[in-house]
Amino acid sequence: MSAVMSTYGRYDLTFERGEGAYLYTTDGRRFLDFAAGIAVNAVGHSHPHLVKTLQDQAAKLWHVSNLYEIPDQTRLADRLAAATFADKVFFCSTGLEAMEGALKLCRKYHSANGAPERWRFVTVEGSFHGRSLATIASAKNPKHLEGFGPAVDGFDQVSFGNLNEMRAAIGPETAAIVFEPVQGEGGIRPADLEYLRQLRAIADEFGVLLLFDEIQCGNGRTGKFFAHEWAGITPDVMAIAKGIGGGFPIGAFMATEEAAKGMVPGTHGSTFGGNPLAVAVGNAVLDVLLEDGFLDQVDRTARILWDQLTETVAKYPEVYESVRGAGLMLGIKCVVPAGDVVVAFQKAGMLTVPAGDNVARLLPPLNIDESHITEAINIIDAVGKNWGAGDG
Ligand SMILES: *Cc1c(COP(=O)(O)O)cnc(C)c1O
Repeated sequence: MSAVMSTYGRYDLTFERGEGAYLYTTDGRRFLDFAAGIAVNAVGHSHPHLVKTLQDQAAKLWHVSNLYEIPDQTRLADRLAAATFADKVFFCSTGLEAMEGALKLCRKYHSANGAPERWRFVTVEGSFHGRSLATIASAKNPKHLEGFGPAVDGFDQVSFGNLNEMRAAIGPETAAIVFEPVQGEGGIRPADLEYLRQLRAIADEFGVLLLFDEIQCGNGRTGKFFAHEWAGITPDVMAIAKGIGGGFPIGAFMATEEAAKGMVPGTHGSTFGGNPLAVAVGNAVLDVLLEDGFLDQVDRTARILWDQLTETVAKYPEVYESVRGAGLMLGIKCVVPAGDVVVAFQKAGMLTVPAGDNVARLLPPLNIDESHITEAINIIDAVGKNWGAGDG
């Protein structure tokens, strides 16, 4: 029995190497990777530019600490700021750290404004913001809270898509509205663009900050650099991670100059955040994502996948119910248990990820082409066709 703590239910698959949209097991089997490490391998496996960047950096300098200037960190922050609403970026290593930091920033903002009583957050049901004590309290998923003592105070929750509840939940103690524009773990639920616009309007009306968690839906996943761009609005604060490192652990929270004004020297820190290895890779990922035409290509690919997927799913109403999502963040809502569908896809050679609400998630690398779509659709079609015939 392994000494690894048993917090994960793992599939019986062991991979040895990856190339583009494919993973190869130690026993030589090939899998089409439509899981991408849960939206992390944004540009696929072993991307030559990322490999070379990491190798070159590894031979020069790994880590120095944030006691010193890190030129590539400055460069990555400047590039992220130039490409988004944000003026200021703080680097960490994971998603939950990015969310924790973003929550702290919101409280500090009001405190710096002379309103320290504004320390609560309104969050939305079905969201996922990480596994720290504060982030499990924010999402209020009972499975994640169970046995971990009293939930951290300061989080009020409303139902998804309900603006009346949102308005009613905001009070004199509210610091920010916290929202995942396309819910990932919760089952690939995209918000209406009008809902996003109204969240912006409500935040402005009540003088609270708008914090978006784009850890999964950001970094090009929906065909824009960040998902909220589709709504033509911007948040005040945003947490990112997953795809921005392409597989190297990187997280960040970013904010407007105004929202970040309380984050002065000594207010926050991280040992590993933004170290030379991480920011070298982060810059290499941006080289690809922000290359002319890359995001337009993601959008085109996503539309082709959406059309073929909705057509295929409709053929097997006793197995699949519907398709939902945005860009290359798609969910197949299943009739039969989604976990079984994910296993059937695996047996047919494709990796996907189960999500809440009985959904199988498709999160392919952003640089897949039509041949990968055809391969995925053939598998989804075959699994639908053969369901209950011994293969399901
Ligand atoms: C994965 C995820 C997180 C947590 O990220 P970790 O790196 O696992 O801490 C937070 N929010 C969203 C939306 C995520 O998808």
